[in-house]
Amino acid sequence: MKLLVTGGAGYVGSVCAAHLVDAGHDVTVLDDLSTGHKDAVPDGARFVEADLADAVDEVLADGFDGVLHFAAKSLVGESVQRPELYWNGNVVTSFRLLEAMRRHRTRRLVFSSTAATYGEPEQVPIREDAPTRPTNPYGASKLAIDHAIGSYAVAHGLAAVSLRYFNVAGAHGRFGERHTVETHLIPIVLQVASGTREAVQVYGEDWPTPDGTCVRDYIHVDDLADAHLLALEHAQPGRHAIYNLGSGSGFSVREVVEACRAVTGHPIPAVAAPRRAGDPAVLIASSEAAKAELGWRPSRTDLATIVGDAWEFTRSRTA
Ligand code: UDP
Repeated sequence: MKLLVTGGAGYVGSVCAAHLVDAGHDVTVLDDLSTGHKDAVPDGARFVEADLADAVDEVLADGFDGVLHFAAKSLVGESVQRPELYWNGNVVTSFRLLEAMRRHRTRRLVFSSTAATYGEPEQVPIREDAPTRPTNPYGASKLAIDHAIGSYAVAHGLAAVSLRYFNVAGAHGRFGERHTVETHLIPIVLQVASGTREAVQVYGEDWPTPDGTCVRDYIHVDDLADAHLLALEHAQPGRHAIYNLGSGSGFSVREVVEACRAVTGHPIPAVAAPRRAGDPAVLIASSEAAKAELGWRPSRTDLATIVGDAWEFTRSRTA
């Protein structure tokens, strides 16, 4: 298929773009490099460096079979401080994309949604029919886009799939996580192991969990990419399908730090810190729907594998 990958110079977008190129698709990456990196665009993909809202209509005029839409702002804390960046950067931009797709009859869409659309869960594992009550503008902006996509599918026959990611981690060879401002647990812990940070702060040790630290469901970025290729194949005109993607097991912050110590052989000092605003205690996905309907089979669910791949990537960057 001829595919447009928005945000394909970012972490998840670049890994998915690499999988798409490997699978033989004709891939164009559109990215403004506001947070992505030009050298993360995989060989074999075309690259357009431009603002999505400005450029997408012209790019899609070329005729595409589908879009994988990763370009977004994705920092929870920033979204609380500066919601305007999220309503504009996520919602308005995605609306421009949807309109350009409608105009140029681009039929398929796979969208990066998030577990943050659910907010504080009533039950774990979280299924797709759980209530969506986001606790920050980031989650709210992604949920708004999901609603927009749903209405476009019904009214305009779009074949759409939203994938709600839990905690994406790991790396795909030279494609990995490298944010200028790093907020995610595993890369932060590995920065400590590689000597670029002194200690990891543990945000709260009094949560209602077995060891008092927050529990999350970590999914390997390669498993996530596999799900995108399947979603693209299974998308049906007039239907907006939504799938959660996680490994289905939860690991606490303490367990993640331990796993990183085991993988890296570094003592990794950890210090107690206050809870971070907006953090739910436990987030674990039910990915049964993705398995049943897409035939998705995550194969890198072991925490040591996820951390090991992220560590290889971190070492290759700091060597
Ligand atoms: N966390 C932490 N110290 C850090 C970064 C994260 O204790 O320096 C915790 C955070 O409170 C959450 C978990 O690690 O419980 C995962 O956070 P991350 O930001 O990686 O992902 P999120 O779950 O917020 O999407």
